[in-house]
Amino acid sequence: MRAELRGNNLDLVRRRNLSLILGRVHALGAVSRAQLTRETGLNRSTIAALVAELVQLGLVLETEPDQTNLVGRPSPVIVPSDRTVAITVNPEIDAVSIGLVALGGRVIRQVRYDTRHIPTAREVVDITAAAIDAMRGELETTYRTVGIGLAIPGLVRADDQLVTLAPHLEWHNEPVGDMLRAATGYEVVAGNDASLGAIAESMRGAGRGIDDLVYLNGGASGIGGGIIAGGVLLGGTSGYAGEIGHTLVNSTGAACHCGAVGCLETEVSRGPLLDVLGLDQPELLEEALLERYAAGDAEVVALVDRQTGYLARALANTVNVFNPRLIVLGGFLGSLYAAAPDALSEAVSSLAMAGPRSEVQLVRATLGNAILTVGAAEIAFAPLIADPASSAVSDKDAVSASL
Ligand SMILES: [Zn+2]
Repeated sequence: MRAELRGNNLDLVRRRNLSLILGRVHALGAVSRAQLTRETGLNRSTIAALVAELVQLGLVLETEPDQTNLVGRPSPVIVPSDRTVAITVNPEIDAVSIGLVALGGRVIRQVRYDTRHIPTAREVVDITAAAIDAMRGELETTYRTVGIGLAIPGLVRADDQLVTLAPHLEWHNEPVGDMLRAATGYEVVAGNDASLGAIAESMRGAGRGIDDLVYLNGGASGIGGGIIAGGVLLGGTSGYAGEIGHTLVNSTGAACHCGAVGCLETEVSRGPLLDVLGLDQPELLEEALLERYAAGDAEVVALVDRQTGYLARALANTVNVFNPRLIVLGGFLGSLYAAAPDALSEAVSSLAMAGPRSEVQLVRATLGNAILTVGAAEIAFAPLIADPASSAVSDKDAVSASL
């Protein structure tokens, strides 16, 4: 992405409007000119010119609507070009997942490469580079590839994409974005996995259309969080914001790897739930948990109630600080909620302040296994959506002709 938009004010306005239109088409998938007019407040002829330019840039297609059963003059439907794609990469403790996502959010492909041990940053880069080389032909001929979105289970510094700390990968200060850029030739944008989960759920999941939401995910390695405030991911000064898993819920709790005691993720964790259920396969957790909780199994009820109580404390603090409309729970936190939805909602209500608690709703995440692929693609597409005209390679004449 260009550091700044050059040109006169008219050019600047046009490029902002192109960004606005492409952003709406990308978010909505298929949209009529009439709907774009309503949503953006731009007039019909401006919309027509902007759409024509995006068509010329190869970023959207305009199709004639189905003429049957329509009253009045039908409006053409605009869809994102599924030839424009982003590559996504998500290193885990036992695998590297690589995805291909089209503009508009459709996941074209998602492949998991198992590793025999926790992968190093170098190994993740090598696996990704090999996977990209294997599909290089289609990435450069069938598709226009905008770059790579990298979902990191750890802290990512916003200004240079450095992975400051990924505790469960045992990575410290790894410039994995730079390494991946050098190995593949593509632009790379990296983000914290839970932050990307929050973006994904707000764009295409449970929080679609909601500007203020908190996403909390419970996984094998702990609890990650992401906050969307006013429609924007809250990054903080360095990009580390959202670590709700490391807020205090029990002053006499267990020691946390972060150096504190009684963090949410030490008091609410998946391991003890699997243990009490006698399971070692996490995918079986929810069914067993719901069944034994509903049956009144004393040990299971005690543990679920205890974890639900601590989770409610953290959620109530979150409600008071951020005043979200929605709290989206993913991973085993969604299972905990499913076991005792009323108990969790009532506990949050009883602990949060009267104002913010009256608007907030708890829901489960809906994107499942695709969530990080969808979220990582969003950050890879973001520079293109911010300035679609920058994607023009040789169409300068066509661009100025459409003004
Ligand atoms: Zn902690």
